[in-house]
Amino acid sequence: MTQQITHTQLEEAVKQSPRKWVYLFSEGNASMRALLGGKGAGVAEMTNAGLPVPPGFTITTEVCNAYYEEQKQFPAGMWDQALAALQIVEAQTGKQFGGRENPLLVSVRSGAKFSMPGMMDTVLNLGINDETVQGLIALTQDERFAYDAYRRFIQMFSKIVLNTNPQDFEHILETYKQRTGAKTDAEIPAQALKELVVEFKQVAERASGQPFPTDVYEQLRKAIEAVFASWNNKRAIDYRNFNKIPHNLGTAVNVQSMVFGNMGSDSGTGVAFTRNPSNGEHEMFGEYLLNAQGEDVVAGIRTPSKISRLHEDLPEVYRQFLEIAKRLEAHYRDMQDLEFTVEHGQLYMLQTRSAKRNARAAIKVAVDMVREGLITPEEALQRVEPAHVYQLLLPRFDEAEKRKATAEGRLLAKGLNASPGAAYGKAVFDADRAEELGKAGVSVVLVRPETSPDDVHGMLVAKGILTARGGATSHAAVVARGLGLPCVAGCEGIRVSDSERLFRVNNSNSVIREGDDISIDGATGEVFQGRIQTVDSDFAREGDLQTLLGWADKVRRLGVWANADYPRDAQRAVAFGAEGIGLCRTEHMFMEQERLPIVQKMILARSPQERQAALDQLLPFQRSDFKGIFSAMVSPTTGEGYPVVIRLIDPPLHEFLPSYEELLVEVTRLETQGGHEAELQEKKAMLEAVGSMREMNPMLGLRGCRLGLLFPEINIMQTRAILEAAAELAREGKKLQPKIMIPLVGHVNELREVRRQLEGVAAEIARESGGAIAYKFGTMIEVPRAAVTADQIAPVSDFFSFGTNDLTQTTFGYSRDDAEGKFLLKYVDGLDVPGQKDKVKILPTNPFQTLDREGVGQLVAMAVAKGRHTNKDIELGICGEHGGDPESIAFCHEVGLDYVSCSPFRVPVARLAAAQAALHQSERDK
Ligand code: PEP
Ligand code: MG
Repeated sequence: MTQQITHTQLEEAVKQSPRKWVYLFSEGNASMRALLGGKGAGVAEMTNAGLPVPPGFTITTEVCNAYYEEQKQFPAGMWDQALAALQIVEAQTGKQFGGRENPLLVSVRSGAKFSMPGMMDTVLNLGINDETVQGLIALTQDERFAYDAYRRFIQMFSKIVLNTNPQDFEHILETYKQRTGAKTDAEIPAQALKELVVEFKQVAERASGQPFPTDVYEQLRKAIEAVFASWNNKRAIDYRNFNKIPHNLGTAVNVQSMVFGNMGSDSGTGVAFTRNPSNGEHEMFGEYLLNAQGEDVVAGIRTPSKISRLHEDLPEVYRQFLEIAKRLEAHYRDMQDLEFTVEHGQLYMLQTRSAKRNARAAIKVAVDMVREGLITPEEALQRVEPAHVYQLLLPRFDEAEKRKATAEGRLLAKGLNASPGAAYGKAVFDADRAEELGKAGVSVVLVRPETSPDDVHGMLVAKGILTARGGATSHAAVVARGLGLPCVAGCEGIRVSDSERLFRVNNSNSVIREGDDISIDGATGEVFQGRIQTVDSDFAREGDLQTLLGWADKVRRLGVWANADYPRDAQRAVAFGAEGIGLCRTEHMFMEQERLPIVQKMILARSPQERQAALDQLLPFQRSDFKGIFSAMVSPTTGEGYPVVIRLIDPPLHEFLPSYEELLVEVTRLETQGGHEAELQEKKAMLEAVGSMREMNPMLGLRGCRLGLLFPEINIMQTRAILEAAAELAREGKKLQPKIMIPLVGHVNELREVRRQLEGVAAEIARESGGAIAYKFGTMIEVPRAAVTADQIAPVSDFFSFGTNDLTQTTFGYSRDDAEGKFLLKYVDGLDVPGQKDKVKILPTNPFQTLDREGVGQLVAMAVAKGRHTNKDIELGICGEHGGDPESIAFCHEVGLDYVSCSPFRVPVARLAAAQAALHQSERDK
């Protein structure tokens, strides 16, 4: 009856106001997160599900925004609505706010749409003053409890509302402990607490210059204002910036009747997860303390007990708690993170929310819930973040060890998280030494100012790569991702000295020399001194992940291929589920040690005959390279082969030669020392040749298809090697799908001419081997002109593969090797601008990592449309690094590509991301 009447009062108060500002818990539900905040929506949902939730109400996030708009005034009608709601809570609890007999105490907590743990303020035990404390004593017969609640309230309220220095209270608390001989706060006797309350109030009054508020309504009003103010404290703003949470959402305020876990041994408080958040096991995971308030669990003063022990301490409560946890999981159809309090044997639920979990737990919980019939496979696919899949497959550091290393001051610097995974090893400063030690079984981390193709042999045996310069698509990053090696690139906090074989750490005296142990975390970009233990993973044994990806394969439309340059990578890619090779960069094969001298002879040849002689030597190597990679992509049982795209030579030729600067130094040294005539002449000749090939902008110079047009013999040799390898395997009954790809085409005439060359070679081989070898011919779209004229290029091409690394470089005009280290990351993090409080962000994300939909993406979309217009059967894929990035994969799905191709370790990620893209699309289409 009472409840009915007061409900009407709230409705009346709402009618008098421009808007409904206040919702009783019974009026909300889980879908109202934006308005009620996560906490408010959660308790509302629990209330309506009939669970034991202490009654209360939520002041909406709209009030917070209105409060700021109206120069920090509550909007009209809000306070009246809050008072009406409070009356209902009084009726529901049978208690009275500010009452002497049976006083109602409340908690006042923040709660935004997105959880911001610990960032905003909370006041507990509000409603205590010198009078109500007497009521509390009479009611509980526990003077100590009542005064302890009172002193906690003064402490919290003063800190949050009156901005008192918390140290002032701690200091007094300490002297009381000493005086009474108490070891912990909990041992201070009632009489001392009573005196302490008087002293606490004096401290608060001195600090704020006003009497401590005894009017409970004033306490409430001020606490609500303080929670709104905390939305804009520095820590909350920083947290939102870091987590990309908008600043205009506002926080809700939850006013809830207090229940006490510190009322004796039949009371307590705890937190629990409905499953284990670190491995996903289906077991209750959490802890509790008897006779304690919430903050005691967090404060770590007493050691909490495992939740399963509650079975012994309070069996009936435990039984009820398990049942509620199960109901909540079933209700939300997800693993929950619960907060509860027991007051005199009565269980109350204070919070439920979707639980944070690590990669392993995310996958196991999603798959288990499908098996349990709680969710569908499609929902399971949406519950797992693609990044989780990646994390699970890479070696990672033991988290406790990493924390220890950081605490010991061994974190040296932080660079770009260029390729995830973790590694430790001896720092080595050149590729030859890395190869020597690596082959002898020593774990090494290759440290270079930046890497070049010359370093690949060292990278192949290293456990990880660290560079001082270069970005997410730098050579080091791309190769490391291909090899599944951790890489920290662009680590500008260190200075690498090749000649001294060491690196120095900026702003510190630390120096790491060759042979010193270092550890790198490619997922975070951190570099540590010494070893940190790693933990490995094995895809074949990840049963739950395999199940999940099996569901993904049924849902996705995009094909998932891999970028692989060696048979080893191709095999790994197939094991991860790749359905083709979308890019084999042949130049990496040229870099192998036995071939490099022949490649150099070919480049430095003074006559076509000399060049041809070198190419003739290279041919058998290339043929066996291609046989290796084709064979890895043929099913041993059916003989059916997956498609393999082989790209003809792409980089500027000087990359295969020694560096001009190093040669210059060498020649000068030999000249001044004298006596090394033969060596001097050889180096001089090389210097001259390298000098003659130097370009100011090599990435815009003689590279890509331009090389094959000026030196057709190179293309001819590579094509011959590809088709001969295919012919040999075809004779063994293997069904191959070779695809030859031409890089950096900007004008259709370039492609026409290369096609003519290649068709000539194909016809020759057909004559020699007595039958034509089927192959496809296509091009990369990686400069804007190719995208814009795709309609002209498509009729000459069986397929397009978008080279979005170069396409991003050429569209933005940002060097893919230098931009990240110099300015691009600052563009993304935000620039410090004098006179501006917030950093000024120029770009939302790094366009070399996540495809820039508005610019580069438009070129891709244009090329897709124009290409299909003039060649409806054209096959379309992507092989730039974006092919393994979940957000970019969604774009590839939307724009209608046929497949994405990415480094082998990202194949499982891409399978999931492609499935998620398809599911989102079908949701949008509904
Ligand atoms: C590209 O440019 O996107 C590409 C795949 O080629 P590369 O990275 O070898 O230049
Ligand atoms: Mg390219």
